[in-house]
Amino acid sequence: MTKKGRVFSGARPTGRQHLGNYLGAIKNYVALQADYDCVYCIVDLHALTTVEDTVNLKQNIFEMALDWLAAGIDPQKSIMFVQSMVPEVTELHTILSMVTPLGKLTDLPTFKEKARENPNNINYGLVGYPVLMAADIVLYKSNAVPVGVDQAPHLEFTREVVRSFNYRYNCNVLIEPQMKVTEVPKVLGIDGVQKMGKSLDNHIEIAGTPEETQKRVMMMVTDPARIKRTDPGNPDVCNVFSMHKIFSPKADVEMINIECRRAGIGCVDCKKLYAKSLNESLASFRAKRAEFADKPAEVWAILHDGAQRAKVIAAQTMREVRDAIGLPNLGE
Ligand code: SF4
Repeated sequence: MTKKGRVFSGARPTGRQHLGNYLGAIKNYVALQADYDCVYCIVDLHALTTVEDTVNLKQNIFEMALDWLAAGIDPQKSIMFVQSMVPEVTELHTILSMVTPLGKLTDLPTFKEKARENPNNINYGLVGYPVLMAADIVLYKSNAVPVGVDQAPHLEFTREVVRSFNYRYNCNVLIEPQMKVTEVPKVLGIDGVQKMGKSLDNHIEIAGTPEETQKRVMMMVTDPARIKRTDPGNPDVCNVFSMHKIFSPKADVEMINIECRRAGIGCVDCKKLYAKSLNESLASFRAKRAEFADKPAEVWAILHDGAQRAKVIAAQTMREVRDAIGLPNLGE
């Protein structure tokens, strides 16, 4: 079947992935492989803008790769690699920075947010972060980028950079990527209030053991108005119920929806049931992950092979970029 084009997406190497990563990105990455040529990148250079301690960086890349592979990213179908293994991205970043007004970067809400979060480390790379992101996308001649609705401005920024470059050098070398808006559920953390994230320690790792998973599930906040076991609950405001709807059999979901409202089931039992469903849903993923984890050399070989294939596309783009600008190419 002819594919619809090339999709690019990147994620920072945050190590073992959690349910928010899985439901918000990885599941979609896997599904997109049926219709698109996919390029999935672990963006380690981006991590350097805010992470100063790199002791665990390689291990985090490896752990993330394990999760991606075990979840179903197929290295035969897709290119999966590490950003810094294809240094052309830094060259393109420099070139694109020349067509990007500084004010545009410092005005971006993401920059302001990051600067607030890291007041003692507002570095040049942090300001240029969106330019590096644009370089990632256009270096691989991507036609589309999967984005949540809230990320749409980031991609619009990339499209503007592409237009500026093509206009300045009177060419059509760089492709304006389209937004592939995806509906992803907002996965709340075990606090039931904030988005799931490692920095908030409110996450549930997909690669955890069944015991670890159950322990985290039992910590989940439920309907805050349900104080006693005899109080009726409201599943509509309960994060545990939202997760049941994704991972539990339909019959369990229907039962909880009725029994919770008349205090027929307590939150402890309800959470045990969710932990069971979650562990069952993740069992085959975890088995595959363990197989990959036993063969680290194979995992790194997949990442190296992905980088080689990405490099072929990157080298071609850079030849065209250099020609469009009028920079001499080596060997000319
Ligand atoms: Fe939530 Fe289940 Fe408790 Fe109802 S019984 S409030 S759905 S955890």
